[in-house]
Amino acid sequence: MPRQYPIERVRDIGIIAHIDAGKTTTTERILFYTGISHKIGEVHEGAAIMDWMAQERERGITITSAATTCFWVPTYLNSKSKEDEYRINIIDTPGHIDFTVEVQRSLRILDGAVVVFDGVAGVEPQSETVWRQADKFEVPRICFINKIDRTGASFEKALQSIEQKLTPNAITLQLPIGEEERFEGVVDLLSQKAYAFGGDFGQEMTERAIPEELRPQVDAAREKLVEKIAAEDERLMEKYLGGQEVSVEELKEVLRKAVLSSKLVPVFVGSSLKNKGVQLLLDAVVDYLPSPVDRPPVEGVEPKKGETVTREPSDTAPFSGLAFKIATDPYVGSLTYFRVYSGTLKKGSYVLNTMTGERERISRLLLMHAAEREEVEELYAGDIAATVGLKNTSTGHTLSDEAHPIILEQISFPEPVISQRLEPKTKADQEKMSESLKRLMDEDPTFRVHTDLDTGEIIISGMGELHLDILVDRLKREFFVEANVGRPQVSYKEAIRNEAEAEGKYVKQSGGRGQYGHVYLRVKPKERGEGFSFVNAIKGGAIPQEYIPAVGKGVKEAMDKGVLAGYPVIDVEATLFDGSYHEVDSSELAFKIAASMAFQEAARKAGIMLLEPVMRLEVAIPAEFLGDVIGDLSSRRGKVEDTEDRLALKLIHATVPLAEMFGYATSLRSLTEGRGTFTMEFNAYEETPPSIAQEVAEGKRR
Ligand code: GDP
Repeated sequence: MPRQYPIERVRDIGIIAHIDAGKTTTTERILFYTGISHKIGEVHEGAAIMDWMAQERERGITITSAATTCFWVPTYLNSKSKEDEYRINIIDTPGHIDFTVEVQRSLRILDGAVVVFDGVAGVEPQSETVWRQADKFEVPRICFINKIDRTGASFEKALQSIEQKLTPNAITLQLPIGEEERFEGVVDLLSQKAYAFGGDFGQEMTERAIPEELRPQVDAAREKLVEKIAAEDERLMEKYLGGQEVSVEELKEVLRKAVLSSKLVPVFVGSSLKNKGVQLLLDAVVDYLPSPVDRPPVEGVEPKKGETVTREPSDTAPFSGLAFKIATDPYVGSLTYFRVYSGTLKKGSYVLNTMTGERERISRLLLMHAAEREEVEELYAGDIAATVGLKNTSTGHTLSDEAHPIILEQISFPEPVISQRLEPKTKADQEKMSESLKRLMDEDPTFRVHTDLDTGEIIISGMGELHLDILVDRLKREFFVEANVGRPQVSYKEAIRNEAEAEGKYVKQSGGRGQYGHVYLRVKPKERGEGFSFVNAIKGGAIPQEYIPAVGKGVKEAMDKGVLAGYPVIDVEATLFDGSYHEVDSSELAFKIAASMAFQEAARKAGIMLLEPVMRLEVAIPAEFLGDVIGDLSSRRGKVEDTEDRLALKLIHATVPLAEMFGYATSLRSLTEGRGTFTMEFNAYEETPPSIAQEVAEGKRR
């Protein structure tokens, strides 16, 4: 079956917002209007729409999917033909922009974003954080000032806050007709047309006259808009300055290019709740946000040679795709959502998972729509879909053409930096808990769970306080498991300083069956993040092969237990270079114990240091608070790397030990009268100063 939608007609987008700005409502309305539009296209008659809408409302629209496919014909085309349809894939973005790799991945998967704002509150702290993340990934954006019907809403103020706090490149393409409870419709500045929204669901968008009293504002805003667009294109500028007529099409074309390179950010307005403005927002998604071919080719690594390679977003390139979400579906079981970056993928074919090196069979391909799923035979570059029953593919894994392997995301997940005790509230919770935790771990590779060997307690670890809060909350909401959590604690690690050798001997030869294990071990520090390796350098059969793996295990167990303060030792190369055995008394257990003893002694001789997670911190504050905030960071052992001006704000870049950051949000708020925001992510494990290491070892800081 050939491709149904030319790739130029595909939009892979995300909707991002501060909590409560209206992301859910806006997404819901988008699915609603696109559903109607699609059905109109199919049935070719108006009467069927109302029927369909009633049914749809009864069934309820699902918007919980990790990716939802919908279809839209821009309203200005005034067409019901499928030929004019665009395919819009809406990728769900995490509600909290903090710590997790999930945020970065979703920004990577999507090509463009709609940023939703509350018309009363304007830019809120979380919107700033999201905005900066999207800057980092160079995601083209359009803005939607929502809730303009609310008491206290002001388009002008909200627009100003975008210009001042986020980007001077924001330009408005619309003006609201009335605000607060008098909000009636919108004026589109480029076409100079005004629209009203009628019918039960605002589904009847009709053209109306621009109110006379709004004329001066419309003219002024349009002039500013045209000037800004013209400034992006020499030819257009000449025409404009020469007083020649510039067509709406020309302006849109130049504007589109400017949005794709993030030089301009168009702003739209409406009320999702009152069904006003959403159709025009969808037109804007089509007009200004990129199709997959408008984005640079995806980069990856060739697994064998380690070279950087790219894949064009083309159907004829070798297949490559990235799994970005594993979800559990009540009907089909485990669903793997992925994006096709290049090539095509047929149902029934095999692909290579380049992370595990295993083949996976693609038994089914599903497009997820709002209220149904659609089985398809084939996927093409730029598509976003789900497959069922993959065995060993996790979030972040690349699926690739077997003959042309590529790794799109190098997964070197950071070590979790924070841990909490987790205690089921009831017996029933206990039974469900481990299975639920396992599912969450499958979805999120930076989340880990283990049982404390000494106390039998369940310990969860992750990338920050908020990260663990969210997971505990999901446990409750999605898996109905209630749990008490302990205080968050920093995950310290231990490491050796030098190279050293030691002997370990475990011998018991009195009464009953004897034990005999005897090893010589050399330990050597490795670079941070290189992990543990075990080298067998036994010559001449001093220890029989069958006991060697037990030696490796013994070392690993001793490392996990820790030597200095009970924290795991990391980044060690351990070499087994000599030893002896006993024909009758030797056993795996005896060698394991001997190895463990040898490791502990060797590590002590090598010298042990305590490592703590150090975070990379970015704080955004009004300039007048700079001194206080930097002073506070120094008292937290923070090192300021530089400061930079970002519009009206100062940005501080610093590194600071996680142990000093508990409660930072509260403290920053009080230092800056509530106006400071920060983001924090893991940077590296670094040696803890001796005085603190001692306190930790003595248990004071736990
Ligand atoms: P989310 O947290 O960003 O997903 O926000 P929701 O879509 O859940 O909306 C938060 C609240 O704002 C809900 O009570 C919505 O009904 C309300 N809301 C959303 N859009 C609008 C709007 O356009 N106007 C008004 N007045 N309320 C809205």
